[in-house]
Amino acid sequence: MLTSLRAGPVRKKGGRARRDGNGGPAAEPRRSAGEGVPGPKGGSVDEPWVVLKFGGTSVASVAGWRTIAGEAAARAQERRVVVVCSALAGVTDLLERAVTAARTGGEGEDLARVGRVHADLAAAAGLDPAGPALEPVRVALEEAGRLVQGVWLTGEAPPRLVARLLAIGELAATRLGVAILESLGLRARWLDARDLLRSAPRPLDADERRYLAATVPSERAPERLAAVAGDARVVITQGFIARTPEGDTCLLGRGGSDTSASLLAALAGAEALEIWTDVPGLFTADPREVPAARLIRSIGYREARELASLGAKVLHPPCLDPAARHGIPVHIRCTPHPEMAGTRIEGESEAQPAVTAVTCRRGGTLLSLSTVAMWDTPGFLARFFAPFEELGISVDLVGTSEAAISVTLDSLPGGVEGRVFKRLLAGLGELGEVRVIHPCAVVSIVGRRIRATLGEIAPALTAFQERPVHLISNSAEDLNLSFVVDEEEGTPLVRRLHDLLFAARGDDPRLGPTWERLRGAPAPAPAALWWERRRGDLLALAGDGRARYVYDLATVRERARRLRRHLPAVSRFYYSMKANPHPAILDALSAEGFGIECVSIHEVEAARDRLGSGAPLLFTPNFCPVDEYRRAAALGAELTIDGAQLCEDDPALLRDRGVAVRLDPGWGAGHHEKVRTGGPGSKFGLPPEELEGLRAALETAGARIVGLHAHLGSGILEPGAWPALARLLASLAAKAGGALRWIDLGGGLGVPERPGQPELDLDAVEAGLAPIAAALPGVELRLEPGRYAVAEAGVLLVPVTQVRRKARTVFVGVATGMNSLIRPALYGAWHPIVNLTRHPAAPDLFAQVVGPICESGDVLGRDRWLASPAPGDVLLIGNAGAYGHAMASHYNLRPPAEEVVLS
Ligand code: ADP
Ligand code: ASP
Ligand code: MG
Repeated sequence: MLTSLRAGPVRKKGGRARRDGNGGPAAEPRRSAGEGVPGPKGGSVDEPWVVLKFGGTSVASVAGWRTIAGEAAARAQERRVVVVCSALAGVTDLLERAVTAARTGGEGEDLARVGRVHADLAAAAGLDPAGPALEPVRVALEEAGRLVQGVWLTGEAPPRLVARLLAIGELAATRLGVAILESLGLRARWLDARDLLRSAPRPLDADERRYLAATVPSERAPERLAAVAGDARVVITQGFIARTPEGDTCLLGRGGSDTSASLLAALAGAEALEIWTDVPGLFTADPREVPAARLIRSIGYREARELASLGAKVLHPPCLDPAARHGIPVHIRCTPHPEMAGTRIEGESEAQPAVTAVTCRRGGTLLSLSTVAMWDTPGFLARFFAPFEELGISVDLVGTSEAAISVTLDSLPGGVEGRVFKRLLAGLGELGEVRVIHPCAVVSIVGRRIRATLGEIAPALTAFQERPVHLISNSAEDLNLSFVVDEEEGTPLVRRLHDLLFAARGDDPRLGPTWERLRGAPAPAPAALWWERRRGDLLALAGDGRARYVYDLATVRERARRLRRHLPAVSRFYYSMKANPHPAILDALSAEGFGIECVSIHEVEAARDRLGSGAPLLFTPNFCPVDEYRRAAALGAELTIDGAQLCEDDPALLRDRGVAVRLDPGWGAGHHEKVRTGGPGSKFGLPPEELEGLRAALETAGARIVGLHAHLGSGILEPGAWPALARLLASLAAKAGGALRWIDLGGGLGVPERPGQPELDLDAVEAGLAPIAAALPGVELRLEPGRYAVAEAGVLLVPVTQVRRKARTVFVGVATGMNSLIRPALYGAWHPIVNLTRHPAAPDLFAQVVGPICESGDVLGRDRWLASPAPGDVLLIGNAGAYGHAMASHYNLRPPAEEVVLS
């Protein structure tokens, strides 16, 4: 029985029963019938390979093996497949603990537990633990018993022996795997990874590195794989293990199975490498620590490697190197959820600056040397680093000054108690005073061109308040900004930083749902949404199978009042009607005392028509024909200009007129780069240094500046944005001349998109604006909310047309698409979607919600959990009151959803 694991014969050191006796005969390829059996033809030498790697939790359950069998069989229809497996979850730890216990003469339960873990899995798979199919597993585990007993007898655990022992986890898992796959109807040939991967130790490598964290150079040698694979279409082999040039077993370091898989993919010249694990991809933080972490849908090799090196444990740090060198795309997939798309890693990272993730690496060591000898001493750094090279210790972060140098070490052979570290300390002690902080954590903000994102990161740095930071480092490649802190500070800091950096982050097509949403956790119940109260009315409205926008005027009024109540520093609000020009909404907001901000003559005309001559209108166009200014002025709108063109084109229009000047503050903000309207690259606004020149030109034409205007962008949730803008405009007031009456801070007031995103803190906006308003007597502050007033007041109702599964993906088709709501396609915007027909039933189907438009971008909701959608059900798409119908089109000649107003 596997459970009654017995130790092998006890020998003194060197008395091995057989070299690396983990072997046993390779499982003979056998055909068996049943589901998922690969096609009858065998593999031929020139057929391409794919490599699928399954980690510890994936191989620890029968459900996991079902996925392995299904995925391998599906790939084997077209390709030859290498399945690379880790040890069963927890087994490597148990084996390590067994060594530690044995070295100190303890007995420990650990090996018995290793046996039980395998026996339990075998039993769950319906296999007889004592049967012949499991003989190779028994052989492997008995060898473990012999090795541990050797440690117990000698009191020593040399790295060479530890490597052999730890390798047994992977060897046993793959032996058992062959039998389980066989029972599931998939024939797979067992290969010994040590026949394929050969390490290349450096002469000075300590034994710890040579045997326990070995480096295996990547090479392309498909013939080597073909030679051992024979004609098998599916082979199964171990991660984590390789052979030294002398023929001993060595390991690639904890978590190294990913690297084995990548090396094997390179060796095979594979078309693709898939890393199957227990989470559906790479996230913006460890999802188990930060449930609001978002899926990274795609990422370049370099940036992903940075994430892995800095603590994203889902990938073993060196594992992307072989794949990148050989141009093999890597795909992270989720074993419990094969229907989820995961993360694709390939190609170069984009050049645009971006913050991608927050990571944490624990258990590190900070070592600082201080000495006056560094002053002006050429070669001091070389002397400092020499013992590191001699002892084979790699350095991670470095900070230097005139009198001190600090480095962090993350993989220290033998740990801080080991002799290698003691020798290092002795060597460095000769150079100056050495200080060690252990354990410490390195918390990193990872991304691209991080130095260019400092403005964005700055507010998040409040997370470090009152927390001692031992070292700050910005990687030379500008891919991370790292902070060394005490270890216990790691988790709270990651949570706080992630919250500050990502919670208010808007649409980003690279990022997918949060971990909690992917797991199907219900969205936190939002405070009594109007559409829940009016569910019956809405379902009745959508009963005819047509899509409809529905607006709730009570919500529009409430938002307007909320703005007034919370922002007394703002004297006037102008509704930015481009968000939703529905006449009933203009009426409602006008009745609340809002003026209307218009960006085209057509908006001016529509507003004037609807609201009559008394309504205050503000015309803020951009690159519009001069005739629009004339017509807008004739309709009594205030004019905003952002250049001197009008002075030349129609000076008569300007005579005796007060106009506003739109300035470019030099920076922008908002939920997507397409809606950020400030900054040197944007087409909007006059650079502030040209204000006096424009004023002179206006004065020549007989006009005066009565208003200063600026607009940062759309969908801003950072309350400091408007006070910062107000400060800038206030500082320019003197340059505008004595006629200045108002300062307009534009719009951009955002509403939370994703569940859990914080609301815009209006009180914080007020706190920032109030002192500025007080310092500007006689000058009123204006704001132009658009989205804020209407987004949550609107929903789009879309009847389900079809529910269809294609391969693993489920598509829920609805009656309208990007012709009605283009925001998801244009900005990657996220709108909540619920099955109104079944609401509040719990979501149970993971699907893509798509429209009928002839474009693959016609997706209204990616990766959504819905409650049993069926044709005829009505889905409700939330937050659709702003930039929904206003941006609709007749693309494909499909009429967009019609609008209905609830009063
Ligand atoms: P396997 O056993 O499949 O190799 P690992 O435990 O090595 O899996 O890696 C998966 C784990 O990595 C996840 O369960 C998750 O907690 C952790 N992890 C840490 N950081 C990240 C991240 N940024 N994205 C995804 N997973 C992460
Ligand atoms: N089993 C090894 C470990 O736990 C290797 C791996 O799973 O990647 O570290
Ligand atoms: Mg792993």
